[in-house]
Parts: sequence; structure tokens; C-alpha cells
Amino acid sequence: MRLVLRSLVLTALLSTPVLAQDQYSVGQFFKDLDRGEISTVQVDAYGNAHVEVRGGSPQNTVIPTSPDVLGRIRASGAELTVVGGGRSFGWIVQLLPVILTGLILFVFWRSMRGGGGGGASNTFGRSRAHVFSEGQVKVTFTDVAGCDEAKTDLQEVVEFLRSPERFHSLGARIPHGILLVGPPGSGKTLLAKAVAGEARVPYFSISGSDFVEMFVGVGAARVRDLFDQAKKAAPCIVFIDEIDAVGRKRGLNFNGGNDEREQTLNQLLVEMDGFESKHDIIVLAATNRPDVLDAALLRPGRFDRQVVVDAPDVRGREHILKIHARKKPLDPSVNLTTLAQRTPGMVGADLENLLNEAALLTARDGRGKITMRDLDEAADRVLMGPARKSRVVPEHDKKVTAYHEVGHALVAQLLPHADRVHKLTVVPRGGAAGYMLPLPTDRVHYTREVLEDSIAVALAGQAAEEVTFGDITTGAQSDFQKATNIARKMVTEWGMSEKLGKVANLSESDTFLGPVAQQGAYSQLTAQTIDDEVKRIIDTQYTRVRTLLQEYLPRVHAIVEELLVRETLSGEEFQTLLSGGRIEGGGMYAAGD
Ligand code: ADP
Ligand code: ZN
Ligand code: MG
Repeated sequence: MRLVLRSLVLTALLSTPVLAQDQYSVGQFFKDLDRGEISTVQVDAYGNAHVEVRGGSPQNTVIPTSPDVLGRIRASGAELTVVGGGRSFGWIVQLLPVILTGLILFVFWRSMRGGGGGGASNTFGRSRAHVFSEGQVKVTFTDVAGCDEAKTDLQEVVEFLRSPERFHSLGARIPHGILLVGPPGSGKTLLAKAVAGEARVPYFSISGSDFVEMFVGVGAARVRDLFDQAKKAAPCIVFIDEIDAVGRKRGLNFNGGNDEREQTLNQLLVEMDGFESKHDIIVLAATNRPDVLDAALLRPGRFDRQVVVDAPDVRGREHILKIHARKKPLDPSVNLTTLAQRTPGMVGADLENLLNEAALLTARDGRGKITMRDLDEAADRVLMGPARKSRVVPEHDKKVTAYHEVGHALVAQLLPHADRVHKLTVVPRGGAAGYMLPLPTDRVHYTREVLEDSIAVALAGQAAEEVTFGDITTGAQSDFQKATNIARKMVTEWGMSEKLGKVANLSESDTFLGPVAQQGAYSQLTAQTIDDEVKRIIDTQYTRVRTLLQEYLPRVHAIVEELLVRETLSGEEFQTLLSGGRIEGGGMYAAGD
């Protein structure tokens, strides 16, 4: 694997609290609304609503006050009155302490920031969960492309939500929390929505930053409220977008004020633990920073299942382009396959943006059809645009990555005791610029040969870079670490060094503490001998790998060329190329359309 570094900026939005409500839930409100059972709605600026239900008693609840929702109420035929200010005085009195504390904190916070920027006041009453009743989400899996593996993983969830009884009667356990992980713009939010659209169940969507308030206790109250609503609407989906805003590791924030976030997170954990299987609620969450999440969130019973939403490869990009071009008039000159080939590193959001730019260019010229030239120019704009620059892989980097990964793959395939190649790719995903995925073999014994070969495979990426470019990059650090770890264990734990003999368990604990922490467990001389032995093992394997790569150099060049065009190769495709064959057409990763 070769790593790249990326910086991400997360913005937390501010909004104001809307608290407490009666048993009449928003979910129920929307259900009644859609059935046309609501005759009048009186709502204030905070979303406090007084609702008259036909043939029932009047109800109080809190509803979103977005123009969307207000439009929907009118469209349903209900009489809508929007009243100025809060109606109920009792509500204010109950909340007085919270409001006062909040106000003080707010003033404090403003002065800390140097008083810049207003804006908090105009988010009053907004940014609560968006609620969609069943059948209201129109997005389905056909609107999402380039992440087939994620769709397959989520299909099970769809089946479950469609007919939970079937799963219950079989005693099957379904994961309640699923984390969608992937780079920004790869379609996580879209995919979550598509699950709701496929399953045709109610969908509660909220962003992690909506929970994060400066008012202590509000975030936690919102979480409680959200899950109360969800329980009433079950089977349903709760989607927490950008969960890292609320789910960051606790106790890492030194400038105070993280109490609120911790409380919110704790409440979320409590809610997820309180699930019984009779509540058919699936909680989906999305993040592009799984590394910063609190470990407690990932424990069994919480978000214990991860679904990776990858950046698309060339076939995925073509498919995405096709989806977003559906409603755009294209000139016959347009070739989306070519366009997909020249946009490596772009994710779904970029490609959608690209098509939109092209449409704007066309409209500006007063023409009626988008041509290939428009698309080319739009691609340049999106590629060169300063905001996207960091995400797009420069040609040279991609080439280095390709040699690196082919190095791993070639050595894995040629050495008798290494795992065969399953797939290799130069599409960047997560922090990796590319990777080679081996097909693990079931093994009972890890013999010296197996361990030596896996060290060789780990070193092969670096060796391939050195053989072809005469230089190695920093991207191989973790490979080197892996190789060293294995070598060290061979020497210290598994008695595989002739010099040290069968002195097993020189290292005292299971966790690898590194040479510094291990000092003292044995003499200085032994420490030196261990280091020498580790170095000897690594050097031997490195030389072996270099020789092998040199011998196969023409093949390496040929495979790299193919990998740069296709971006992803399956194990079979790689094997074919290695034995001098050619691969035709789309191969196993073709995006069927
Ligand atoms: P994320 O949540 O991963 O940051 P989004 O789901 O918000 O990404 O993607 C933004 C938009 O980009 C989507 O609304 C959709 O129009 C487009 N898009 C992103 N990924 C895909 C995809 N895989 N297939 C089709 N469209 C996509
Ligand atoms: Zn590597
Ligand atoms: Mg998103």
C-alpha cells in the first residue's frame, strides 16, 4: 500500500435549541399530513406547532419550519397559520436556566472569537432532523454507481427493512449500526438515502454537526428525541451524516467546552445500546474520518459494521457520468468512456459538477447540445480548480504508485509461500494512493518460508520503486514497518534466528512496544544481536526481491502500462498479463449498464 496525506476541514454549524415535545411525534404528524387527516396547523418561528387532527384531539408537536415543509402542509389542504414568536410561556420558563447559561456562553464565545460574524440568530428553529415518510424518498440504487460492493453489502439491510418478520422468524441477527466510510463526494449521503428509497421506509436524516451545540444538554436531548420518533416510526432508517462532528474521540479537546459533545455522544451510545431487536431501526452513519471516531462507537452492538464507499475507478466513473447525463442533451460527438478515462481521482460529486459546468458553458454560447469540447473544457476547470487540486492524482504520482503496487503483486504471485493476488488498484481511497489486495490462504502453521515470503511481498513495493526510479518515496513507510514487525517477531518470539537460538518470548507482552520499551527485558548485547538479526533478515529479503524484479522488469513495465489505463486489475487479469497474455474488453470489473 502506498499512502498519501490529506487535510480535511470540518465545519461545525451552529444552531439553536428546540426542546421537548409531547407524545405526538413529527413522524406521526407527517403520516397524518400525507393521509390528509390534518385540518389546521398553527406554527411559530421556533417550530412549535398546534395541530388539529380530523376526528381526533388537538396535538402539540415541534416540526421543521423550512419552506419545503410549509409548502407540503399547504399542499395537503390543511389550513396553515404561521404565528410570530413563541406561543407558550411555560416553555420559556422551564428553559430559563438553559437559556441564561446559553446566553452567557454565547457572549463568552463571541468575545473569544473576536466578535466576528453574526449569523447564529438566523438559524433559529432550523437544522433538525429531516423527516421523510415512507415512499417519499425517490432515490434508489440505480442512482448510485461506482460502488457496487457497498450496494451489495447494503442490500441485506434493504431486505431486512422490507420484511423484518421474515428475519425475526429465522432468528437472524441484523446489525443495527452501519458506518459508511469513504472520501468526500463519493456518494455516502446519496447511498444512505437510496437504502431508504429501496426499502420504502421512513427516513430520519440529521447531520452530526446539528447535534453539536454550545448549550449543554441540547445535543443529548435531540438525540433522545430523534430516537423516540424513530421508535414510533419503525421499521425505519436513522441516518447520521458526518458523524465525526459528534463522535470524535473523547477527552482529546484541551480548550474545554467539549462537555456538550461528550454528553451528546454518550446519549447516542445509550440509545444504541437500548435497542432491542423488536425495534426495527437501522442506524446508518457516514464519515470520511473513521480514524478520529471514538472507539466506543465501533463496539459490537453499535457501529460494528463498516461499508466502504470507494472513489470510483474508470468504469465506475463512466457509469456515474451516464447517470448524471441522463437528463442532459448530448451531442453525438460525446464519448463518456473517453471522458471517464481522463478524470482519474474524481469522485461522483466532481463528475456531477463537471457535467453541470459543461451545461453552463453550452448555455453561455447559446447552443442546444453539450459537445465533447464543452466536456473537455469543463473537466479542465474542475481538475485545475484550486479546491479540488489536492484530490486529483498527478500523472507522475500515479505512475510511482503503479510500479509500487505491481511490485507487491508480482512478488506475491511468484513466491511459492505468499498469498495470491486478488486485486490491485491505483485508485486512491482513504489514505492510500493505491493498494494490492491479496487473497488470504487458510494456514495452520506459519513456517519460516511463509514469514520470509510475506516480508518479501511487503518490501516489494519499495523495491519496485527503487529498481525503476532509482529512488524511494515516503509512501512505503507502513510496508517497511510491517516487514520489520514480522522479522522482529521471528527473532524474538518464534525462535527463528540461529544466532539467538530458540529463546522464545524475549518480548514480554503481546503488544508490540518497540525497541525502547523493551529494553531492560534483556541485556544490551542481546538487544544489539536482535537488531542485527532483524536487519539481516530484511536485507536478505530485499536483495531477493530486487533480483526477482530486475529479472521480470520488461513484464513489470507492460503490466504497469495496462494498470495505468485500467486503474484496477483483478487477480485473473494480473495473472494473464504476467504470463504474457493480453486482456480484452472490460474484464471482471466492467460496469454493466
Ligand atoms: P458524500 O456524502 O460521500 O460526501 P454525496 O452523497 O453528498 O457524497 O455526493 C454528492 C453528490 O454527488 C450526490 O448528490 C450525487 O449527485 C453525486 N454523486 C456522488 N457519488 C455518486 C455516485 N457514486 N453515483 C452517482 N452520483 C454520485
Ligand atoms: Zn505498499
Ligand atoms: Mg455527505
